[in-house]
Amino acid sequence: MPDALVRLEGVTKRYGTHVITHALRGVDLCIAPGEFTALIGPSGSGKSTLLNILGLLDRPSSGRYLLAGRDTSAMDEETLSAFRGRTIGFVFQFHNLLPEFRAWENVSMPRWIEKGRRRDEMETDARQLLEAVELGALADRKPLDMSGGQQQRVAIARALAMRPPLVLADEPTGNLDTHAADEVFALLRRFNAENGITFVIVTHDPRLAERCDRILHLVDGCLVKDERRG
Ligand code: ADP
Ligand code: MG
Repeated sequence: MPDALVRLEGVTKRYGTHVITHALRGVDLCIAPGEFTALIGPSGSGKSTLLNILGLLDRPSSGRYLLAGRDTSAMDEETLSAFRGRTIGFVFQFHNLLPEFRAWENVSMPRWIEKGRRRDEMETDARQLLEAVELGALADRKPLDMSGGQQQRVAIARALAMRPPLVLADEPTGNLDTHAADEVFALLRRFNAENGITFVIVTHDPRLAERCDRILHLVDGCLVKDERRG
């Protein structure tokens, strides 16, 4: 598959020097643009490790990672960080919004590093993204004055600020009730359908995994099952 967005070849990850944990034991994986993939597996199976490697937050101990056709193992830290910024959006279980800043300011945060961006342009764009996650009316609120589901939707808008082709989510609905979880999940599916954004979502929730196009099963650092649905 030459047009893969994500390609892992024999990726391993070891932690520790005395006691060594083999968090990933040789993962081969291709993800095509536009795929909506769930990553599931028991606690400690390596899901977060794999997501961190996909997100260029951590490097493999061995193996290769090609993202959008570029070999990331050859990149220095600065190149890697710039590439990550424009290629990948992140949504975490705990949204990591900055409490002192309004919703729209949080959403525009990833773009502050861009050169030549005007503040009013960033604000307009952030407000539009908040409209897209159905929070237009709350753009001037601070995170603590919003519900958990609303905060997570702000975090999704922030993840999309750079218009990345790939969004990675680690338990994005993990601390939400069923209703809010469904709303957040529906939003991710909509951005996938309408904008062709590729998603990889770690989830414990089999209900949500079943609504993905593909389910990757990780056990003890190995991909043991690759299930395509629909
Ligand atoms: P999951 O997200 O599926 O629960 P993780 O990727 O967090 O699994 O962890 C996989 C394995 O790697 C576990 O045994 C965990 O204890 C270990 N591990 C994860 N991060 C570190 C780290 N920074 N240092 C040492 N061991 C780690
Ligand atoms: Mg984890």
